[in-house]
Amino acid sequence: MSETSTSAADGPDEAASPSRDRLAFDLDVDICVVGAGLAGLTVAREAARLGASVAVLEGRQVGWNASGHHLGTVMPGFGLPISDVIERVGLDDARELWALSKEGADYVRATATEDLIPGIRASDGALEVSNVDVGEALISRLQTLGEEFATEVEGWQVDRVRSVLRTGRYFHGIYYPKAFQIDGRKYVHGLAALATRAGVRIFEETPVVSIDFSGIRKRIVTPTARLRANHIVLAGNIHLGAPLKRLSDTLLPVWRYAALTEPLGERLAEAIAFSGSVIDSDGIDHFRVVDGDRLLWASPETTWNARPKRLGAAVQRRIATVFPQLGKVPIADTFGGAVGITVHGMPQIGQLRRGLWVASGFGRQGLNTSALAGQLIARSILWGDDRWRLFSPFELVWAGGTTGRVAGHFIGLWARGAASAAGVLARYREGARAKERRREARLAEANLKAGTRGPAPRRPPPSAVRPVRPAPRQVEDGEQPSAHPSQESERISDGRM
Ligand SMILES: Cc1cc2nc3c(=O)[nH]c(=O)nc-3n(C[C@H](O)[C@H](O)[C@H](O)COP(=O)(O)OP(=O)(O)OC[C@H]3O[C@@H](n4cnc5c(N)ncnc54)[C@H](O)[C@@H]3O)c2cc1C
Repeated sequence: MSETSTSAADGPDEAASPSRDRLAFDLDVDICVVGAGLAGLTVAREAARLGASVAVLEGRQVGWNASGHHLGTVMPGFGLPISDVIERVGLDDARELWALSKEGADYVRATATEDLIPGIRASDGALEVSNVDVGEALISRLQTLGEEFATEVEGWQVDRVRSVLRTGRYFHGIYYPKAFQIDGRKYVHGLAALATRAGVRIFEETPVVSIDFSGIRKRIVTPTARLRANHIVLAGNIHLGAPLKRLSDTLLPVWRYAALTEPLGERLAEAIAFSGSVIDSDGIDHFRVVDGDRLLWASPETTWNARPKRLGAAVQRRIATVFPQLGKVPIADTFGGAVGITVHGMPQIGQLRRGLWVASGFGRQGLNTSALAGQLIARSILWGDDRWRLFSPFELVWAGGTTGRVAGHFIGLWARGAASAAGVLARYREGARAKERRREARLAEANLKAGTRGPAPRRPPPSAVRPVRPAPRQVEDGEQPSAHPSQESERISDGRM
């Protein structure tokens, strides 16, 4: 199966995802894990490797949700920008958290090998591009990541970014040479196979409907059987539901969708000459080239469960907006999954009460973070490693129920609109600067020919210079960058007539 098997429509790879029994008999184990996504499977595998008896109860099938339908980009860090993490917990703890996030990425790298998961096909490098012209901010981020957080990063100037991504929408970039990508679906099924090999028992079609977590031995109820365990790990993401509704309510569910194009031939290489993942710094687009000439692209989001097929056209429009030279690309397949976003942007990792653990809220960056959660929780249960406490400043906070989801949707739209508008403005300013440089060059040439120095550039009196802040305008998907947001802003921003 190809690297593109992240697609929902491909259906499970039979060899990689054997169907598993539902739990039909009562069982006693050391650890019961609820949910067979990336988080649940990693904690189960690690706990079994450390000697515990472990059962995983999955309401549907392994990797049914986001864990089987993602883009497979593995990077260090969290959904929350590192500057915000520092602000929240201070530099020392932020460094430790960052180091854990790197350990998570290392875990995936060590697991996603051809030996352990045949056909996983890892490839290297990720480029985070900015859709606004923020050279200074980039340098300060590079310094933080490189010097304070010992992460290998390279700053790319605009020209370098545009030499590999032929679009005027992106400016500077941060290149992560140690980031990598894997086949997402193969990974989750490979992880399940490795967990089983380590002794984990995985039961599918076995939803947990209630939990009695009082007492040392906790009781877990499913429609067909009961289970007793000393530790329960809740790794159900947004679908956890009945067993601990209050916990589900701390996550804002966001459905993220992606599409895979048909082979695009030579024209794709002319537009995109970068083999790793590209992520824009506003969290709007995330894409990479697969199978040589196809594009795998994630972009639209909703706070309700829509059919991925209906979002294919939105991805198509988005691709045409960023790379107009590709035109309307044919879509071969669409897929999506729900991610759980926390109010503070950091994952939920830790012990809620004695023997009751949570591993969720991994958001759009779940590969490294769920891996770090799995390792931390298993080691804490079996070795007493208490580094999960680094996450305790990020409390479980109510994400607002239905009202919050609607509000979250509008906030998301606003943030994305504002980000796009900022991009339009940055591109406009860049165009205006280039035009001005050309005008001055022509003037200098004319003066040289005429043997005159020409008049000094006209400057308006200081009182005439108003701050340049055209209000950000919502920019629709598919809208072409405007060369002139308005004549008014052009006149004022340059300070010239
Ligand atoms: C389109 C898309 C692209 C993405 N790209 C990337 C990427 O490139 N890199 C990256 O790092 N991250 C990416 N992500 C995010 C990543 O996929 C998620 O953060 C991660 O998969 C979350 O894993 P999880 O185990 O917490 O949740 P899930 O995958 O949702 O797994 C939870 C499981 O628990 C089960 N469950 C829930 N409640 C119960 C219950 N009561 N009883 C039994 N079972 C239950 C569910 O059925 C489900 O299978 C992407 C996500 C999407 C949607």
